[in-house]
Amino acid sequence: RQAAFTKQLMAVYSHGSDEEYMRRLQILQALPEAIAERKLELHFQPKIDCATGTVVGAEALIRWRHPQLGVIRPDEFIPLAEQSGDILAVTRWVCEAALNQQQYWLEQGRKLQMAINLSAKDLQDSSWLSFIKAELQQRHLPAETLTLEVTESAVMADVEQAQQQLTELRRLGVKIALDDYGTGYASLSQLKHLPVDELKLDQSFIRGLTDVENDRVIVRSTLELARQLKLETVAEGVEEEAAWRLLQTMGCVTLQGYFFSRPLAATEFENWLSTDASRFLQSSEPNKAGH
Ligand code: C2E
Ligand code: MG
Ligand code: MG
Ligand code: MG
Repeated sequence: RQAAFTKQLMAVYSHGSDEEYMRRLQILQALPEAIAERKLELHFQPKIDCATGTVVGAEALIRWRHPQLGVIRPDEFIPLAEQSGDILAVTRWVCEAALNQQQYWLEQGRKLQMAINLSAKDLQDSSWLSFIKAELQQRHLPAETLTLEVTESAVMADVEQAQQQLTELRRLGVKIALDDYGTGYASLSQLKHLPVDELKLDQSFIRGLTDVENDRVIVRSTLELARQLKLETVAEGVEEEAAWRLLQTMGCVTLQGYFFSRPLAATEFENWLSTDASRFLQSSEPNKAGH
């Protein structure tokens, strides 16, 4: 317990004001209970086929509404959970909840690729592989319908370890996506050897797409590179229709962003699917992007 407490203190005691320090400490202390008592929630953001506008999948994004601390964003508590070690339990919960949801939707006749986010620590957990395998088998879900998103920086933290883990996961059949691509420091030669199926271009490049020439050049050449390497591509952070049109001409495969939908609670997501989703279908010119 002493060791656990020291670990917590170390995790929160880095920089910032006393107030921020107290908040981080409170978050860390509340987290184990939130996991144990299933107080975390998942939201789902649709993934859209760039050429046709069809919904092809969803990314599960974690949410935590704390009675005293309010909404705690993942960007705030995930790094803390990584430092304290609670992340392993968080990821397992996310995985279970996301697969339950995917299975339920499948039973309703909605076939959706499900994506979850892993942290660097998950890649170092040697029991993760057997865990995920069991979770898929239990639900009779084909491994190919699950995508694991790992950030470029998590992979770069220990390339060899990541390479080995991702290779085994991929052998299982799950898809691997390199998240926030372009913000880490993966060199082209490293990228070539990484066992990934999908590049997820970071939203910082997508936001400026329609008016920043440099972003357009970066995105266009990254999509071209991905094609050469036989990788699928996702653009995240699509907020305007103009960005979608541009990405269509560039041959991007999948899109995500507020233009289509924000991340939604499961029932909202279902409502969105049955009401709003059809607005994006490209009925008149189905082959615009030349697929
Ligand atoms: P990410 O995996 O890159 O997820 C994309 C983030 O961008 C999400 O923020 C999403 O809500 C937001 N986003 C999506 N479309 C748009 C858009 O058009 N405009 C803008 N401005 N933002 C958009 P969120 O949900 O706050 O998550 C932030 C990060 O926290 C995620 O980045 C991911 O790295 C991490 N995260 C979220 N859920 C989990 C989880 O279950 N496990 C782990 N390990 N990390 C998670
Ligand atoms: Mg992600
Ligand atoms: Mg991302
Ligand atoms: Mg991100």
